[in-house]
Amino acid sequence: MNTIKTKKSLGQNFLIDRNVLEKIVNTVEIKNKEILEIGPGSGNLTSYILKKEPKKIYVIEKDDNLATLLDQKFNNELNIINEDVLKISENKISKEKLTVFGNLPYNVSTEIISKWIINIDKQFWFNSLVLMFQKEVADRIIAIQDTANYGRLSILSNWKLNVKKILDIKPESFKPKPKIDSTLLVFTPKKKFFEIENAKNLETITRIFFSQRRKMLKKPFNQIFKNAKEVSDKFNIDLNLRPQNLSPEIYYRLTKEFEDLRGQ
Ligand code: SAM
Repeated sequence: MNTIKTKKSLGQNFLIDRNVLEKIVNTVEIKNKEILEIGPGSGNLTSYILKKEPKKIYVIEKDDNLATLLDQKFNNELNIINEDVLKISENKISKEKLTVFGNLPYNVSTEIISKWIINIDKQFWFNSLVLMFQKEVADRIIAIQDTANYGRLSILSNWKLNVKKILDIKPESFKPKPKIDSTLLVFTPKKKFFEIENAKNLETITRIFFSQRRKMLKKPFNQIFKNAKEVSDKFNIDLNLRPQNLSPEIYYRLTKEFEDLRGQ
């Protein structure tokens, strides 16, 4: 396995730090659960997951060479899906709820988590997501209102999921060594979340607000709502504030308002 030629374009930085690998698999229960691992690479994390005796393990790996190597290394122990995770319907993989692990390829990590949140129906297809991101992305996911990192990703992630930070991981824990720090986060489904008809509308609304994050709320409000004054009064919003000053809940409510007004 030491001879693998890694592909930068697929974000191939393999985790080699045993302490970190151990911590990741101790984050949630694995024994007798069905596991899905995204981007197993050379199978380092996969080996640690297998030691915990899962009922079944599915892995999604886009790289054909790595998929073949994994098959040889683990002799039929894995259900290998040699595809692009962005093109998979995860809810069709198993009838059971999955526990998901992934040291995500950095270039598509936000796309993966956004896709999952947007596609969640009333029924969640997973019971937890244990995911590693580049630290800068994780900081945006967990950011709270009134801070510089707060924005689209925090609002989207906190809509349907509880998010918890587990640990930061240094570049030395990987081979090849990336230039950036990483962070491990755990996501679990929220029992109740605000109903929005089409999740894409939440994306559109937050994009309009946060693409002008230094501007006062007046501007995006006028762009989105014909009756901006009426809507801001209804939600008791001071239009001289900035987008980062509104809570996630307000963004969900504004999205619903936008949907209701458009439907009239
Ligand atoms: N899990 C391994 C580890 O921790 O050592 C490898 C993690 S590496 C950061 C990311 C892995 O995801 C690579 O093996 C890469 O080939 C794979 N990958 C990249 N883009 C992918 C995609 N769109 N779908 C599925 N796998 C992908």
